[in-house]
Amino acid sequence: MSSIALVTGANRGIGLAIAHSLKEAGHDVVVTFRSGTSPEGFKSVQMDVTSSESVDAAFDEIESKWGIPEIIVANAGITKDGLVMRMSDEDFESVIDANLTGAFRVARRATRGLLKLKRGRLIFIGSVVGAVGSAGQVNYSSSKAGLVGMARSFARELGSRSITANVIAPGFVETDMTSTLDEKRRNEIARSVPLGRFCSTKEIADVVTFIASPQASYITGALIPVDGGLGMGH
Ligand code: NDP
Repeated sequence: MSSIALVTGANRGIGLAIAHSLKEAGHDVVVTFRSGTSPEGFKSVQMDVTSSESVDAAFDEIESKWGIPEIIVANAGITKDGLVMRMSDEDFESVIDANLTGAFRVARRATRGLLKLKRGRLIFIGSVVGAVGSAGQVNYSSSKAGLVGMARSFARELGSRSITANVIAPGFVETDMTSTLDEKRRNEIARSVPLGRFCSTKEIADVVTFIASPQASYITGALIPVDGGLGMGH
């Protein structure tokens, strides 16, 4: 079944892979980009998830040009790693603002359309570290843990309208975000993953596409790990 799908932060990395996968599944995909240019082959709008004005304006544009997005993937995210003793308020708050409050701004605005449609999928991209923690990522892991409570609250509030809300929690994925890790650290991480390797962006995208599909209509409030066994189901 074709429907309009919106993916935030989809000019590269996991977001772009999700956009391709949803398109291959027959959805009409709109991607958002913050900086640079939009990826080729997709309808696109500019959106900065740290600004409610920007999020609302992007949704206004999408709805007037193409219609109400029925599948919403809140994927945009950042890291600002550092040991806790050296982590400034700004380092903590800016990551929460982009990853947690940003996802809230997107899901809140999307809900207006979903309530009219009386169906929909809210899909939040979390992280295994939201459940298991990560030294040097107090800000990032807090933001990703917060998404679980957020998704479950959306699931309870909107479930009676056939709107589902779930979190996909990737482990370590080959993208720009992890390309800064040096070779030694990469090998250590790979050894700690039961499947012994990093994840491809496609392996995340395919699970998102399943959750967006009619086959996943009875899954809501779930935290779905795609982490090679790193979090052992958490
Ligand atoms: P990338 O750094 O490759 O891409 C991040 C995307 O988010 C970019 O498109 C970026 O836009 C966008 N973005 C960042 N800040 C904002 C903002 N304020 N407003 C709008 N867009 C923004 O990251 P990944 O593809 O690796 O990660 C995607 C998601 O997956 C993130 O939520 C991340 O936390 C999560 N994740 C990633 C893992 C990994 O190992 N890579 C593991 C677990 C979770 P721009 O190009 O303008 O910077």
